[in-house]
Amino acid sequence: MKKKVVILGSTGSIGCNALAVIDALSSEYEVVAMSAHRNLDLLAEQVKKFTPRYAAVTDEQSATDSSKPFGGFSGTVLSGPGSLVELASLEEADIIVCAVVGAAGLPAALAAAQAGKTVAIANKEPLVIAGELLTSAARKSGATLLPIDSEHSAVFQAMQAGRPQEVRKVVLTASGGPFRNATLEEMNNATIEQALAHPTWDMGPKITIDSATMMNKALEVIEAVWLFDLPSDKIDVLIHPESIVHSMVEFIDGSVIAQLGTPDMKVPIQYALTYPQRRAGISKGLQLHKLGQLNFHTPDLNQFRALALGFEVAATSGSAPVVFNAANEAAVAAFLAGRIRFGQIVELIDHCLQAHTVQEHLTLEELLQIDAWAWREVAERLDRNTTIVN
Ligand code: MG
Repeated sequence: MKKKVVILGSTGSIGCNALAVIDALSSEYEVVAMSAHRNLDLLAEQVKKFTPRYAAVTDEQSATDSSKPFGGFSGTVLSGPGSLVELASLEEADIIVCAVVGAAGLPAALAAAQAGKTVAIANKEPLVIAGELLTSAARKSGATLLPIDSEHSAVFQAMQAGRPQEVRKVVLTASGGPFRNATLEEMNNATIEQALAHPTWDMGPKITIDSATMMNKALEVIEAVWLFDLPSDKIDVLIHPESIVHSMVEFIDGSVIAQLGTPDMKVPIQYALTYPQRRAGISKGLQLHKLGQLNFHTPDLNQFRALALGFEVAATSGSAPVVFNAANEAAVAAFLAGRIRFGQIVELIDHCLQAHTVQEHLTLEELLQIDAWAWREVAERLDRNTTIVN
């Protein structure tokens, strides 16, 4: 019996890599459904190649505009944002790969967890915004939550070497982004081009900016709290510019188990698909002798204030991570639009956290209302101060 996989967000970078992995594993895996937001040309190509039973277009306008999106496709075409939930809870599906950007993929991730699926989570929002809802739904239904993010996959792999109560701490590694050697002033006034020039990973603009502020790592700390059921003070961050050690776990006997590999997202994607087994993969092996050395140092929390705030938010929990994440999304959008300086991203996040009163045990609807509030708060603050352009 082939494992049946649903890919939510098949035309993004994670989605394309997941399809490449499945293509290589094709004798054991089958794509039963895929979704795209707007990129119908690529979706049509993917549908032709993988012949799923369902294809969804989440952007209603794109679905309407295109008269004949998939010539010759005999499966069911769904449209609108609600189609993600439908695909995530398909009776025949075994594994749901959640790679939809932003809060849009949240209801689907939750539906997959409630339906008892294996949920491979690639984007940060499900665990950052709804970590409590998602983990409790998975406990109830028996769903398995598996990380696709390289750091969490590394921690998850290292965790196989011991029992949860034997973990002393988890160390998430970070490339440090383009500003790891910059002064605070250089960083605060950085241009869009400088912030987008990531030294090791090739990713989309939002996550590349998050890597430059180290917001990316801050969100990963919050995710790790939920994924591994750890208090935030058991999580450390180390800057490791080579991005070879993807993260590590220190056990109570002092042993540190790390996962290493070339920086290639196909490795964590494949592990999530084949877990608890391993398969021959399409990624290149690691040649440590060619690298010669690996470097590590502690991040300066005065420079990377987003990371300092992230540790505070991870310790607070409740609705704080929702505000933290949404304020960042809104601030990064403003930065990429040339409306604010780089240093103002973290100022806006800090402002929203201060203006928010933390609430506990919220429903998904309530969490999404707080998400929307943070977006509005950033917009209003920018409208009040229109003079702050690069
Ligand atoms: Mg990561």
